[in-house]
Amino acid sequence: MTIKALVWGENIHEHKSEVVASIYPDGMHEAVARLLREDAGIEASTAVLQDPEHGLTEDVLARTDVLLWWGHADHAAVDDVVVERVARHVWEGMGLILLHSAHFSKIFKRLMGTPCALKWREAGERERIWVVNPRHPIAEGLPEFFELENEEMYGEPFSVPEPLETVFISWFQGGEVFRSGLTYRRGAGNIFYFRPGHETYPTYHDATVGKVLRNAVHWAHNRQGRYPGVHEAPNVPVEKALEAIEERGGKLHKSGEEGFR
Ligand code: ZN
Repeated sequence: MTIKALVWGENIHEHKSEVVASIYPDGMHEAVARLLREDAGIEASTAVLQDPEHGLTEDVLARTDVLLWWGHADHAAVDDVVVERVARHVWEGMGLILLHSAHFSKIFKRLMGTPCALKWREAGERERIWVVNPRHPIAEGLPEFFELENEEMYGEPFSVPEPLETVFISWFQGGEVFRSGLTYRRGAGNIFYFRPGHETYPTYHDATVGKVLRNAVHWAHNRQGRYPGVHEAPNVPVEKALEAIEERGGKLHKSGEEGFR
């Protein structure tokens, strides 16, 4: 079965910075999609901020198994209605992969419920990414560590909730460390945050980064499809209880009546 991945790009820096345009002439989202297409089991398409409804209509999301998100310059431009729509699909089982500065995206903050802030420095320094969870599916086929010669530094504290799993920890030439590969589960949706990917460096041309992203798409894909029931809170009246029970004590609702939702 082919996994349908959708790479969402903010698509702003590519049109404003010659440096970014020279590294990513077809856009960062297209570079990420190309890395995913090296795997015949992944069908990767793209959408950008400037598309109607940011390219994230109900139809598109319903067909998407895993959504990848890169944003930085204008997180605020993403419509709250679309953010809620994406959140609903994640709760129902769509995978979500947040790339680099997507740590401050509306959708990540919405799903984390915390500031998601961090330290940063743009000095083109070396990043050494350590695999701290060697048999995790996202780390499959990776060496003990890999390096990116030029990257932006992100440093702790990273104000996110304690993750489900930590897959990578980065060390930077300037001395800081950062939890750079984190997994979460929200409803039926698998979420992965992956740190590298600053726009002025060729990170999305790196073979190992490509491997991580392809692994992450496979990991985030919920093979069971969507579970719309995640939103429902049905009342189970006494007469429908699995075992015969007798009502006792005080209660707010009559048996069978709709409860609070
Ligand atoms: Zn950056």
